[in-house]
Amino acid sequence: MKCSIEDFEAARRAYLRRRGVDESAGCLRAALIDMDGVLYDSMPWHARAWHRMMEENGVETTVDEFFAYEGMTGKATIDLLFRRAFGRDAGEEEAKRLYARKTEIFKAFGKKDTMPGADRMLKALEALGLRRVLVTGSGQKSLITRIDGDYPGAFAEADRVTALDVKRGKPDPEPYLRGQEKAGCRPEETIVIENAPLGVRAGVAAGCFTIAVTTGPIPREAFEREKADMIFASMPEFADFLESLSLRADGKA
Ligand code: MG
Repeated sequence: MKCSIEDFEAARRAYLRRRGVDESAGCLRAALIDMDGVLYDSMPWHARAWHRMMEENGVETTVDEFFAYEGMTGKATIDLLFRRAFGRDAGEEEAKRLYARKTEIFKAFGKKDTMPGADRMLKALEALGLRRVLVTGSGQKSLITRIDGDYPGAFAEADRVTALDVKRGKPDPEPYLRGQEKAGCRPEETIVIENAPLGVRAGVAAGCFTIAVTTGPIPREAFEREKADMIFASMPEFADFLESLSLRADGKA
């Protein structure tokens, strides 16, 4: 079932009530936007790179399980799997080496596609007058440096939060709190756009109206469990919705 403007308004009202904020104070001013699985269809490659690196190190995993870990730092993911396989955390140096190997495999897979519909999503957010802030847990320079070529003008240099800017990664709220600071907005003035359950948890914990777009194999229920305010079945569907919102704001629909 597609989300309508009425669904959005009802979800906003419920969100503002939950936060104890007057509806008139809930004017949206900024969108805090995740990168992997939102702007780039990169998650299948991350998952395959993780799986292969772990295989090389004698850790049994499935490719799909890595979609559920999206947002966690590299060290946290490695420790989780090391505890499962060997009953211990990885050492600092060991984790660095393994993460570097995962990054190497990821890069060797070549250029990652942009997410279909993401360009329309960014343009519609601009048309709605929302400041766009990138909030990614990634420290992968290969993608972060591509943003300006793939989405020219979408993100001002100052409006980016990456793994290098935070102490604690998602699901901690810190990345989205930093995004709010960069935008100079209160939580109720921002929306978070996420594709990962742990990213949704981070957005909700930061107090933002959090929208999940399911762009991978994770079922809708996982996003409901994390209390996403709205859930869209795909990026093109979310872009369609934003475009209809923007047309209505212009009085054209
Ligand atoms: Mg993501």
